[in-house]
Parts: sequence; structure tokens; C-alpha cells
Amino acid sequence: MSLSADARPLPAFAARAVSVGGSPVREILALTERPGVISFAGGLPAPELFDTVGLRASYEAALGGPTAARALQYSTTEGAPELREAVAVRARARGLATTADDVLVTTGSQQGLALLAATLLEPGDTVLVENPTYLAALQCFGLAGARVIPVPCDAQGLLPDALEEILLRERPKLLYTVPTFQNPTGRTLPGARRAAVAALAARRGLWLVEDDPYGDLRYEGDHEPWLAAHPGAEDRTALLGSFSKVMAPGLRLGWMRAPAALRRAAVVAKQAADLHTSTVDQLAAAHYLVAHDLDAHVATVREAYRARRDALLAGLGGALPAGSEWTRPQGGMFVWARLPEGYDATALLKSAVAHDVAYVPGAPFFTGAPDPRTLRLSFTTHTPAEIAEGLDRLGRALA
Ligand code: PMP
Repeated sequence: MSLSADARPLPAFAARAVSVGGSPVREILALTERPGVISFAGGLPAPELFDTVGLRASYEAALGGPTAARALQYSTTEGAPELREAVAVRARARGLATTADDVLVTTGSQQGLALLAATLLEPGDTVLVENPTYLAALQCFGLAGARVIPVPCDAQGLLPDALEEILLRERPKLLYTVPTFQNPTGRTLPGARRAAVAALAARRGLWLVEDDPYGDLRYEGDHEPWLAAHPGAEDRTALLGSFSKVMAPGLRLGWMRAPAALRRAAVVAKQAADLHTSTVDQLAAAHYLVAHDLDAHVATVREAYRARRDALLAGLGGALPAGSEWTRPQGGMFVWARLPEGYDATALLKSAVAHDVAYVPGAPFFTGAPDPRTLRLSFTTHTPAEIAEGLDRLGRALA
């Protein structure tokens, strides 16, 4: 197709586009789509639990009734007023004063991350994260050219003392955290630490990005108030929520609750990215939230996931080599395990897949030196019986 033999070579891609790798999780997911594989790899909601009938009815209502033309038209960047209002109502029900005006609808909560990176980060800016942390957040910060520094964590998440020490030394722009049922570890930050993190952020001048796609999936214990609700955090927290885990990820609907100035900047970034989130999807979701009982649906999903989590936790000791450790999450989708000294979860994945079982090696979730002994197991997409069979295979693969 070249116009002439002496055409010049094309200019290079931006360095950031080359330096940030694709998600190895997605590559493994492709590998495990083979029939018969019991996969603990993907962070997918269970498809048989989608309320397909209810969602279809809401799409019909959005497209069949008086809103049809609106559903198919361009709309405002901030989002459909009825969906913003529904998000605000749900946030208030969880104890966080929120109005529709505080909410920006996003194309998945993933877009919220991209918008925050675009609005807050200059190349070279420092971002603090949990270690390990959500892979696609690391991609986002990498694409923004940020310098990512891990904050030491223990079994309950971020260590406020360690955070303070870093804040005395570094001038980070923001702390990115998944405080509730974290991806990949399943850990939840206790209330006292949330309060300490919020106070530190206020004292040291730090933005907080609280990413909470899993908070509604609690199987035991008491609900922890959002980091955003703690004194000090009010004027500096971008709280990201999602309909992916409670409704369906294919809708690509999420939201950001942020202070006015940050939200306005994010709106401009969103105009540049996609003008607005799909109108028909927003109106269908808004209809669903009025005509159906999302909380009742989530309660059904929770029941199923709790049994699946219990099946995984019950069988894990028999499947992993003696001396392994793992988390016991109170909610969410993930258990995080650590094999004994000398094991390498990435190297062992081949053997697992040969035994028709899969997991995600932990290494890509780390900033800096990874712990090769770690792996993430998702328990949501298989029945307890399938989980038991998968663990049996895993036991043989790791033996
Ligand atoms: N944040 C975290 C921690 C996640 O695990 C995910 C999904 N895996 C997302 C954000 C993005 O979710 P979505 O864009 O579907 O709302």
C-alpha cells in the first residue's frame, strides 16, 4: 500500500503506549475459555445470576416508551439525571451525604480511573498504591507517566504509619486504594485505619481515590463506611462505584462521586474521551433501579457467592502445598494465596492449565519486586461442586 518506495518511516508511538504492557490476566482468560477448564482466574460475575429478564424489560421500557427518542439521542456528559439521582439515593442509604449533582456517570468505573489520571497527573507525578493492587489501575497510572510507589500493607491493608512515613519523604498527588474486598487480595481496611488515612490525607495535602466495585458483595460482618465518609476525606476523595458486579459488567456503567472542582475537570476529560456514556444503557439502568429491587437481586447473588467462597475456603487447604497461606475475605470475589518458599505461581500455571484448572499468578499485581509465590483465585463463576473438582485438579497440578 506504500505510495512510493522512498516513503519515510512512520513516527514512533508515544513511549507510554509501548512501556505499559497488556494485561496478562486477559491473556490467561483467553487460554481458559477452552471448554472443561475450571477457571479461578477471571474476576467475572456469575452470568447465570444476571437478571436477564428484568434488564430486558428495562431496555424495552427505555426504548419502547416515551423515553425512546431520548434513549437514542446524544445526551449530557454528566449523565442521565435519573441515574445520577438513583446513585445518590444508594450512596445516602450507605451513609454518605450525596446529591445527584455530586455524581458523574462513567463508562464503567474503569473510565473513572482514566479520567482521574487525565485530570490529576502530570508525567513524573507520584501515585501511592497498595501492593499488590488492581492491575488495570497500574496500567492507567503507567499510561499517565506516573511514578507509582507502593505503601506497605499487612493482612488488613494499608498501614497508616507507613503511609505517613512516605508522605514525609515524597510529595505524591494521590493515593489509590481499594479499601473493601480488595482486588486482588480480598482484604478490607478496618474503620480505624480508614479514619487515619483520611486524616493523613488532609494533613499532608493528598487526593484520595477510593475504588469500590465490590462493597455491596458482603457475605459476613458489618458494613464499613466509605473512606470518603471519614473526617478529612470530604473535600479530597473521588469515590468510584460500579454497576458491573451488582447488575452486569456488559452495561459498562459506573459512577464517580467527587468534589465539584475535580468533577468539573473530569467532565471535560470525559468530553474528550467519549462525550457521554451510552444513553440507552443509562436509561435502562435507571428504569431498572425504579421498577426492580436491585438490593433483593444483590441479596440472591450474595447468597450464591457466599456458598462459593465457603467451598473454596473449605477445600483450599487440601489443594495447596503444606505451608501455604491464604486470605479469608468477608466479601468480594477473590482469595489471595501464597505458596511455600521455592514455589513460583507463574511457572506452575502451565501445569494447572494442563490439568484443566486456572488461576491468576500474583506477580503482575505488584509494583516493584513481585512475590512469585502468590496467586489470585476467584470463586464467583463456579458452583461449590465445580469448585471442589477444580481444587482437586489444582492439588494434582501443584503436587
Ligand atoms: N476497579 C477494580 C478494583 C476492579 O476490580 C474493576 C473490575 N475488575 C474495576 C475497577 C473496573 O470495573 P468496571 O469498569 O467494570 O466498573
